[in-house]
Amino acid sequence: MPRQVKPAPDLAQQGERALSTLPGIGPAIANKLAAAGLLQLRDLWFWLPRSYEDRTRLTEIVDLRNGEVAQFEGRVASVEHGFRFRPLLRVHVQDDAGHTVALRFFHFRRQQVDQFKVGMRVRCHGTPRPGARGYEIVHPSYRLLAEADEAPLNDRLDPVYSVPESISAASMRRWVGLALEHLPADDAIELVPESDIRHLHLPKLRDALLTLHQPPADVDLALLQQGLHPAQRRIALEELLAHHLSLRRRRMSLRSEPAIALVDQQQQVEKLLAALPFKLTHAQERSLQAVIADLSAHAPMMRLLQGDVGSGKTVVAALAAMHAVGAGYQAAIMAPTDLLSEQHFKNLDAWLTPLGVRVVRLSGRVVGKARAETLKAIAEGEAQVVVGTHALMQEAIAFKSLAFVVIDEQHRFGVQQRLALRDKGLAAGCIPHQLVMTATPIPRTLAMSAYADLDVSVIDELPPGRTPIQTVAIDAQRRDELVARVQAACAEGRQAYWVCTLIDESDEIEAQAAEATLASLQERMPNLRIGMVHGRIKPKARQDTMAQFKQGALDILVATTVIEVGVDVPNASLMVIENAERLGLAQLHQLRGRVGRGTAASTCVLMYQSPLGAIARERIDTLRATTDGFKIAEKDMALRGPGELLGTRQTGLAAFRVADLMRDADLLPTLHVIADDMLLHRPTIADQLVARWVGSAERYASA
Ligand code: ADP
Ligand code: MG
Repeated sequence: MPRQVKPAPDLAQQGERALSTLPGIGPAIANKLAAAGLLQLRDLWFWLPRSYEDRTRLTEIVDLRNGEVAQFEGRVASVEHGFRFRPLLRVHVQDDAGHTVALRFFHFRRQQVDQFKVGMRVRCHGTPRPGARGYEIVHPSYRLLAEADEAPLNDRLDPVYSVPESISAASMRRWVGLALEHLPADDAIELVPESDIRHLHLPKLRDALLTLHQPPADVDLALLQQGLHPAQRRIALEELLAHHLSLRRRRMSLRSEPAIALVDQQQQVEKLLAALPFKLTHAQERSLQAVIADLSAHAPMMRLLQGDVGSGKTVVAALAAMHAVGAGYQAAIMAPTDLLSEQHFKNLDAWLTPLGVRVVRLSGRVVGKARAETLKAIAEGEAQVVVGTHALMQEAIAFKSLAFVVIDEQHRFGVQQRLALRDKGLAAGCIPHQLVMTATPIPRTLAMSAYADLDVSVIDELPPGRTPIQTVAIDAQRRDELVARVQAACAEGRQAYWVCTLIDESDEIEAQAAEATLASLQERMPNLRIGMVHGRIKPKARQDTMAQFKQGALDILVATTVIEVGVDVPNASLMVIENAERLGLAQLHQLRGRVGRGTAASTCVLMYQSPLGAIARERIDTLRATTDGFKIAEKDMALRGPGELLGTRQTGLAAFRVADLMRDADLLPTLHVIADDMLLHRPTIADQLVARWVGSAERYASA
């Protein structure tokens, strides 16, 4: 009788073992880990370190450097323990050569104090900072060593993991280590075809994971810290591929749903084109053609319209809306803020109403009877074009026949919300065509990944007749000179913005800063008419002030960043931005885009507080050198990373563990090829990749 053979355990199955099978993980801890998306051993395999601590070498105390993490050894020379405003423990450590460094503790236990005896050997790890006398290290990690202890150095770097609340770093390190013992020894975890990536000369996934979790002492730490180690590149490739596949999947599923093919029977688009006081630029025309082709198809449009501030996206959206109206359907335009929705409404109202199209605005401010009437007009289809904020549109508003939605994204609208729109669809079970507009110009290769769920049109040309903006940077100490300059400009009939920015501060503090600036400017320039807008001023008063400025009844408009969106005053040709060093490139670029809209030569003055940090200096230099949004975006990405640039929520590429779109951009062509092939021929592998990397991405981000 044949011996019963137990099937060999499938190595990949090891990965599916529950974490509670690891020592030290009981039900309570397992729950905490599960909340962070950590359920099985393999979740730990892919829970990659955030950073590393190097305990593989010792640094001489004399070689310690400000801010550079180091490990060193010495003997306790003296201990200060007392209470000066708050409890204090300071341990002076000295090496044989007599160099000293202080360890400093603000929170400590009594036994810790007693532990440090003069003459004792101690090994410490931490970040030196200049203290009262020489360097000191606040809350170092340390180990007291017995006299005879040889205390060998580590042969690997210590990984530092992000940990769910109330789980210790040491436990996490131990569990990941244990999980890695079950990492399959063969190709069981490889999902990316070797032949497709051979030319990149990257390690196998298993080796890459082990290198990243347990880097050997001789690893190239500089490469690792820059994220350029081949092991990181191998993982980044897979991670980017997974996110790309996930977006492509979403796109495919959306595109497979039915939409209404719109035909502009009344030639409304032509009518509006004829009525416009200008001719479209080539780029606008090209984008409009692409949009109209999409609208005319039975699959829902999913298109991104990318174009710098002032490139004229709104009119393209208006023309597309006319196409939908001409076909007998409703269009909706969604803006991120009420102010911007107001500006869109004004434009659309001015363009479309004379052609007999009914445009309505949905605002939180319109209440009661007026609101009920607006809603009724929308429900009955009498309102053909509806303008409102994202928030309003997401409420349960009934349309009669909504077939086209424009989303003005302005950094604030995520993939998830984009997709939620499908529920807003028509009674007939069709979903509306979508056009997403963004003023964030990103290079095409990146757009293919960041917006893989969308088709992309780019308006890469500004309307003619604009004079380039001159940008200068001025130290805030030279404020008087600047005031004189503003005064002179206004005497010539020019108008100026004076922007007070306090990033990260509350609305209220920003408003106070604006008030103070207004008072001081009024005092210095009593002959000028100065107005002010900020978030704390009632909308009605704010609108009146804006209108006055637009009509030329004000010389200077003091404003907070509320003017970033929604203002278009061609005669304003001077802009002063205070605290420019605190703003990001994208925001400065957006602000600057408020001037240079007319024919007069415009100037933007970036006022900064010195000393300028290196990055702030680079930002300011970049703005002085160019007004090209694409160049600025590239620089911005290089300085900050694309995640921040695009807003993590927006990319749908939120929580990269290893990858960085900009840094790893050279991998994109390869992964686009792999993705095409995989979606076609190996869809189940694609599923596994998406599950591995994207499934838990959001939980990863919040851990
Ligand atoms: P964006 O939304 O892309 O920042 P807007 O749509 O607000 O830009 O357009 C900026 C200004 O340029 C508006 O006043 C608009 O009417 C005007 N404009 C748009 N297209 C043209 C064009 N082809 N020629 C001249 N002016 C244009
Ligand atoms: Mg706009």
